[in-house]
Amino acid sequence: MTTKAFYDRPAMSDIWGVAASLASRVTEMRTDVLVLGGGMAAYRAAVAARNEGVEVVLAYRGRGASPYVIGFNAPLGHSDDRDSPDVYFDDMVRGGYGLNDRRLVRRLAHGAADAYRELQALGVPFAMQAEGGRALQRHLSGNSYARSVYVPDGTGRAVIDTLIRHARTLGVVERGGEKVIGLLHGDAGVQGALLWKPHTEQLTLVRARTVVVAMGGLGQLYADSTYPVDVAGDACAMAYEAGATLIDMEFMQFEPVVTIWPSQCRGMEMPTAMLGDGAQLRNAAGERFMLRYNPPHAERQIEKARMALYIQQEIDEGRGLPEGGVWFDATSLDAATRESYVSHCSRLRAAGVDPANQAVIVAPAAHSAMGGILIDDCGWTGVTGLYAAGEACGGVHGASRIAGNGCSDTLVFGAVAGRHAARAARALDRTNEEPINASLRALSRWWGEQQDDPVPLKQHIRQTVAGHAGIWRCATGLSQGLTTLEQINVKLQSMRARTLAGAVALLETERMTRCAIMVLAAALQRTESRGAHQRTDFPQIDTRWLTHLSFDRYGKFSPREIPIH
Ligand SMILES: Cc1cc2nc3c(=O)[nH]c(=O)nc-3n(C[C@H](O)[C@H](O)[C@H](O)COP(=O)(O)OP(=O)(O)OC[C@H]3O[C@@H](n4cnc5c(N)ncnc54)[C@H](O)[C@@H]3O)c2cc1C
Repeated sequence: MTTKAFYDRPAMSDIWGVAASLASRVTEMRTDVLVLGGGMAAYRAAVAARNEGVEVVLAYRGRGASPYVIGFNAPLGHSDDRDSPDVYFDDMVRGGYGLNDRRLVRRLAHGAADAYRELQALGVPFAMQAEGGRALQRHLSGNSYARSVYVPDGTGRAVIDTLIRHARTLGVVERGGEKVIGLLHGDAGVQGALLWKPHTEQLTLVRARTVVVAMGGLGQLYADSTYPVDVAGDACAMAYEAGATLIDMEFMQFEPVVTIWPSQCRGMEMPTAMLGDGAQLRNAAGERFMLRYNPPHAERQIEKARMALYIQQEIDEGRGLPEGGVWFDATSLDAATRESYVSHCSRLRAAGVDPANQAVIVAPAAHSAMGGILIDDCGWTGVTGLYAAGEACGGVHGASRIAGNGCSDTLVFGAVAGRHAARAARALDRTNEEPINASLRALSRWWGEQQDDPVPLKQHIRQTVAGHAGIWRCATGLSQGLTTLEQINVKLQSMRARTLAGAVALLETERMTRCAIMVLAAALQRTESRGAHQRTDFPQIDTRWLTHLSFDRYGKFSPREIPIH
């Protein structure tokens, strides 16, 4: 694989010249801890840091995946007293096919119940049993016992709203609707970040003693995903640029039944619980194909990950619909059962499709990244001043995450990273400050006379990743995908922009390309099938691969194996 184009830069004097002229537009501010992101990991980090008595600024673009959370794991033992942190630990390692970083798993196993109690004390209205102050807990796939706590009207929204209110009470300074353009980094590590308010010429350099990156996973790297648009791999790309290591980039979990028609509902997960209630999956010929793969249960008694593999196989072998999916048919359900899925039924009807008499079209879609920034059990990335938390990080879930664990991860490690970033902020010597221009280098590199539009390239990247590093992978497809990404990159390197918005778009496209190459390169290197990484040419799990593939700035794009802890 050639990596040359990424490192062929225009003369540094040109870049510094543009950076110097851009510097006049930059306003500066200072804080102790800067938290990047506006989801649960970020707010948990901000609150924990503020509780340590330091000044905190939190900057974000949107709310990310957090508001969509239905429930999260906490081994309280309220619904089944056999549950404990030790059982939860074992579930995670089994579900992650042994690849999990045990230090992180231990932290999560012993921290999730505390996170639940802290949120409850702040007023999150969790579903409770009628008596005894005990939570109602649901049994999700991959968990030995019922341990998912939830809020009936929407867990993610309730948790994030409560955290926002609490952060405001504590005096966290929020900067909403701003894009992080890059980290301010140099020999003394990370010292802040550059922010841009879209549709304006306003740039702000927030200087900070330490930074917590909590900007979510890789979602929008895939053509079809359940992620909102503001989660596109920026956390990984920026941390990598600052010297952090990325691991497990090849592992992406797919949700099996995500709507592709009606198009207004594209990206909406259909509930797999509805299949348990009797809804059916059919291919283009009307065949209930799951009977073939999972007799006699068909859509029932099967792991979500396996169901996703079979649906994709049906599509890949030409038995899917022209739209690229299969039918999800809920017409045979009795009305009361069907209508109990209130929001799904109403969203479909608003799009002109009545699930009582019409099927919808679904296909697997990217849902959850297991890979990301390498951290220790204090949330430290190994780069001075740089901490990270939430879906931006890799390691805790191993090769596949058990249901309900994305949110638990963000809640526990958000607080861990915030607390340790605050302590480090007090201890670090920050007398050597990086100049403003250092934060503008990455942006300046795209300045020029033309105004090129990278949107078609972004779309091409997404299709390439979905097409070649989807649910099934093989060497031929991955190699072709890498060639395509290299070609995209060559084209991108010749593009320039005359405006700030244009330069930001080109920089984002470069970062997407970088992450995409890492996903495909790692998937090509891992010649086995494990968890969320399934190779048609290497269908077996292979104990020799019980190791992480990692990328660091100094090794450029050559994946390096590191043993699991
Ligand atoms: C549809 C859906 C349903 C889910 N359901 C569940 C569930 O029921 N249970 C569960 O445990 N997990 C669930 N998950 C996973 C879970 O939502 C995530 O793992 C978790 O919310 C990640 O939280 P986070 O704070 O790390 O990132 P996010 O919540 O994704 O937040 C990322 C933040 O970073 C910001 N950001 C990103 N890039 C930039 C930038 N360049 N500049 C400024 N800001 C930026 C975003 O705007 C956002 O505020 C679900 C995920 C999806 C997509």
